[in-house]
Amino acid sequence: MCVSHNDEEPQATEPKGHKRNLSQGTDASPVRRSKRQRSSTNLKELSSKESDSEADQHLKSPEGKPKQTKKTQAASATKKAAPKKKTVCQESAEVKAESDAEPEAPKPKPARKRVTKTKESKETEAMPLAARTKGLKMFVGAHVSAAKGVFNSIHNSEQIGGNAFALFLKSQRKWDNPALSDEHRDEFRKLCTEKGYDAAARRHVLPHGSYLVNLAQNDEAKAKQAYTSFLDDLRRCEALGIKLYNFHPGSTNQTPLPEALGRLAKSLTKAITETSTVIPVLETMCGHGNTIGGQLSEFKDLLALIPKEHHDRIGICIDTCHSFAAGYDLVTPKGFKAFLDEFDELIGIRFLKALHLNDSKAPFGSKRDLHANIGTGFLGLRAFHNVMNEPRFEGLPMVLETPIDKVEGMDEDEGSESETGAKKKGKKAKRPAGASAATVQDPGIWAKEIKLLESLIGMDPEGEEFKALEAKLSEEGRETREKQQQQYDKKVETDKKKEAKAKGPGKGQKSLMDMMKAK
Ligand SMILES: [Zn+2]
Ligand SMILES: [Zn+2]
Repeated sequence: MCVSHNDEEPQATEPKGHKRNLSQGTDASPVRRSKRQRSSTNLKELSSKESDSEADQHLKSPEGKPKQTKKTQAASATKKAAPKKKTVCQESAEVKAESDAEPEAPKPKPARKRVTKTKESKETEAMPLAARTKGLKMFVGAHVSAAKGVFNSIHNSEQIGGNAFALFLKSQRKWDNPALSDEHRDEFRKLCTEKGYDAAARRHVLPHGSYLVNLAQNDEAKAKQAYTSFLDDLRRCEALGIKLYNFHPGSTNQTPLPEALGRLAKSLTKAITETSTVIPVLETMCGHGNTIGGQLSEFKDLLALIPKEHHDRIGICIDTCHSFAAGYDLVTPKGFKAFLDEFDELIGIRFLKALHLNDSKAPFGSKRDLHANIGTGFLGLRAFHNVMNEPRFEGLPMVLETPIDKVEGMDEDEGSESETGAKKKGKKAKRPAGASAATVQDPGIWAKEIKLLESLIGMDPEGEEFKALEAKLSEEGRETREKQQQQYDKKVETDKKKEAKAKGPGKGQKSLMDMMKAK
């Protein structure tokens, strides 16, 4: 992770979390907000953790990095083009990739909280948290930070042992972004090949679209703005040699669904004709409010509106948390199979190009987009066992968007600060002393989840090993689930009352009268 530096530019910052559709205004608030904060925190942590220095890698190069043993050598060998600066991170990354000798321990060192932030410690922190597992048919990774340049996402993915990864190509929360520089583009392409993310025609890299973009937008000016940004992203993908591009289907903005799908199909078709290789991939959603993409049938309807000749340029990404929240049982083997059968029947399994692997803090069918760490939510480890052993998912990128806060609660503000360059320094300053206590974003959590998921391949779900893991993770999330369940039950109750009120003419009237009387 050399990455992170949020400090500077708005370039693609953020990682994780949850992606929701801003365009829709609906509930976004609490959930989204917290998520965002988290993400920022994320970066922050990374940055603080890893480099500070590394910032403009292209420019400066604090050479003399001590440490780095053999890695340095290997790294430097490969590395020439890029000015030394990145050395720190980069090297470690390379090392990982290249030298299997490494400790390889899957265990992510949870935040090695920096005790001293000397260069040495920084370097230590930049050491890989886990080595990539080779030879698997399942390509698991996470949505990593691309702060300070898209190529940093590669280092970040390497750092956590990811065999696939997602990133933002530009700030996901701003309309205006600097163009992709040739330098960053070349560095990305070079590293992708060097680090072996190039396999399968770079289909293991899955950029995530901006939260601002709603291709189903009904307002003309806004639609144009959304389309421009979307097309710009697709072009960035092509410049980077990336074949897949994940985005949210958008929101109806309270217009009839068929009309919204019509607008979406039209924009999408146009974007496809204006590009040549990248495949836009629509993500399944939780079905909240006016969000499009909760039901699989909506994708079927959308595809029907797009000329067949373009169908090989369209994909679907299943987000486990979203689809579960939308009402699809992915937990029981039977439900999981039924879901995929329905997918195949309505859409066609050939359209499935990627997965987002997230557990759900909110209950089944709640239509809430709340990502939980693998095995701790309502999906539970069983669902992920289904996923990791599904032959139809072989070769597809599987991206974690799970929370990586090290300590619960707080620190959110700090997180947001990290997004502004200036603050960063201050932040760092305070971080030092084993301030390790505060909440920090810990990519080591992803490193661990990746290994966990990979370990499920071929594991007997009825065996002791699985049962023990399942129980342990379930216990970790028990409190959160109980809390969320209560909230959900309360909401269902409230909705029922509202409905009853609306229905019963008598009752409705009565309450109205009461209100008047009260006045
Ligand atoms: Zn989400
Ligand atoms: Zn997702």
